[in-house]
Amino acid sequence: MRPVLAVCIALLGAWLLPAQAAAPSCKLCVNRGTTPCGKHGKLLEVEHGPVSQLCSAVAECKACAGALAIDCRHCVNEPAESALAERQRLAREWLQGRRKAVDAVAAREPYAHLQTPHFDLACGLKPATIGRDKLDQHARLHLYGERLEALHAKFLATFELAEADLPDRMTVVLSEEGKDQQVLGPRLTGLGPAGAIGLKLMGPEYVYTVYHDRRSLPDDEALHRAVVHNVAHLLLSQMRTAQWLGNRAHGWLDEGVPHWFEETVVGKCTNFCFEEILLQTPASFKGGKWRPAVRKIVDEGKSPLFATFAAKNSDQLTFVEHAFCFALVDFLLQRHGGAKFRDFLRLVKKDVPTRDALQQVFGLNPLSIDAPFHAWVKDTYSPLPN
Ligand SMILES: [Zn+2]
Ligand SMILES: [Zn+2]
Ligand SMILES: [Zn+2]
Ligand SMILES: [Zn+2]
Repeated sequence: MRPVLAVCIALLGAWLLPAQAAAPSCKLCVNRGTTPCGKHGKLLEVEHGPVSQLCSAVAECKACAGALAIDCRHCVNEPAESALAERQRLAREWLQGRRKAVDAVAAREPYAHLQTPHFDLACGLKPATIGRDKLDQHARLHLYGERLEALHAKFLATFELAEADLPDRMTVVLSEEGKDQQVLGPRLTGLGPAGAIGLKLMGPEYVYTVYHDRRSLPDDEALHRAVVHNVAHLLLSQMRTAQWLGNRAHGWLDEGVPHWFEETVVGKCTNFCFEEILLQTPASFKGGKWRPAVRKIVDEGKSPLFATFAAKNSDQLTFVEHAFCFALVDFLLQRHGGAKFRDFLRLVKKDVPTRDALQQVFGLNPLSIDAPFHAWVKDTYSPLPN
């Protein structure tokens, strides 16, 4: 028989007998060689989702040992079995590494660990009621994993960045107790003081550690805001060209951008990267609602002029200036768009002077920016609390 004809007959046969050809020889696993692990309850879908790559609760599952699947007891499928074993090995080795990097340093109750596409997250948070749900440590781990990845995606979208602009992984460690943060924070960031509520390392490794200090962060929402503010700092620093702007006379950008994300994602600004301020006033400035506060100051003609704070470092900014940094970022983003703001950041990170970068991207200068900014505030911000 000619080959073409033989192929045609074979295809016809397959078409005539589809059910017979597709019938699985093992009905239990439908010839996959594995069945789903039944020990993950409501979180099974989350464990399989795009945010969860590796999870300590899965790695420690007595039934599947990290594979989320069990070898089929009815059939032999060697490729599936070796894939299962490989997945278990990967989970085991990953968890050993995380335990060594985090748990071995803190030496207390084990942390829950999660690897997501961009973060290595460790969570020692106790169970808490969030909204209507009571979440245990493992569920809070996944909630923060999703929040971190959502922030990463929002940062990329806001400044119209590519993945390659944020190439570095970030480590985030959330502790319940101050005594764990006191050991872990300085060890993982190489920074002090040990008594700080949170510490962050802005490059070339990117690390944020914090504990749930009840005085300054009364609930999960406040902790979430602190995470958003501080991780926005890490994202801004690592954005290529990698550079921390906070101690290079660009405090208004270094603080303004994290405030903007804090407000946009969690509705208020309550975090200041200046230790004494953080320790003094957990209640924040103007209840964290800065748009009406800025509008009121502009109406009163008491606005700090851009040129007076544009060259300060982050830890030199006053409360009022923090609020104006937020509003300036809001103005530039909303009036001129994220792509222009990104171009401006890139110039500043390459040490182009602020006045030249402002001129080049926005057609403004440090003296001419105040008038359109204040006019925009009057047009856009309500003086009433929102
Ligand atoms: Zn089977
Ligand atoms: Zn999990
Ligand atoms: Zn399992
Ligand atoms: Zn900050």
